[in-house]
Amino acid sequence: MNRTKHMLLRNMAWARESAQSNPAFFAGLARGQSPNALWIGCSDSRVPAEIVTNCSPGELFVHRNIANLFSTDDDNTMSVLEYAVQVLKVDDIIVCGHYGCGGVKASLLPPPADLPHVARRIARMRSRASALDGCASSDDQVDRLAELNVIAQAKAIRATSIVRNAPHAPAVHGWIFGLHDGHIKVLAAGERHATHGASHSASSQRDAAPVLQQHRAEAMAG
Ligand SMILES: [Zn+2]
Repeated sequence: MNRTKHMLLRNMAWARESAQSNPAFFAGLARGQSPNALWIGCSDSRVPAEIVTNCSPGELFVHRNIANLFSTDDDNTMSVLEYAVQVLKVDDIIVCGHYGCGGVKASLLPPPADLPHVARRIARMRSRASALDGCASSDDQVDRLAELNVIAQAKAIRATSIVRNAPHAPAVHGWIFGLHDGHIKVLAAGERHATHGASHSASSQRDAAPVLQQHRAEAMAG
C-alpha cells in the first residue's frame, strides 16, 4: 500500500475513534476555533506542536517554518501574528525551537547555492555566530545558536506593535524541544501585561539566559 493511501486509512480510523470517544467532538470543531495559544515552531517533522504538547485540535494556532523564524518584513508570519492576537485573542505566544535543528546548522555553513530561498531565509541567523566562540564543538554551536535564535524571535514578537498595543497583550514564551528526550525546556518565560499599551520590552519578561549553559549541557548529554 502506498504511503498516502495508508495516511487516508489512518485518518478514517482516527475520525471514527475520536467520534466514539467524544460524540460532540467534531460538532465542536465545526462551530469554530478559539485556541488559547499561538505556536511558532520549526517545520521539522520531528517537532509536531500538538503531539509534543499533548494538545487536541482546536487548542493551538500553529505557524511553522524552517528554524522557527519570525520577521516583521514577512507577511506570512506577520499575518499569523495579527490574526492570532487581534481576532483569536490568544493569551500566549510560544516560539519553540529544537536542538539539532537543520536550519540552524545550515546557517553556519556556506549558503546552499541550489537552495536560494532557504539560504535567504536562514542567513540572518549567521549574524549571531560571534556568540558561539566558546562552544566546544560544532554540535554545541548549533544548539547554542538554536537557543539564541528562539530568544531573539520571542523578543522580536514582543516588540511588535501588534503585541504591544493589544488590549490584553499575550505573554510571549521561548521554548526549546529536545529530540533526544522529548522534553521542552523554557528559555524565556512570558509575563502577562493586562493594561492597554503596557510596556512589553524584552526586559519586562524573563529571558532565562543563565540556564542556557545548563540546557545545552543536558542536550549534549542526550
Ligand atoms: Zn529545525
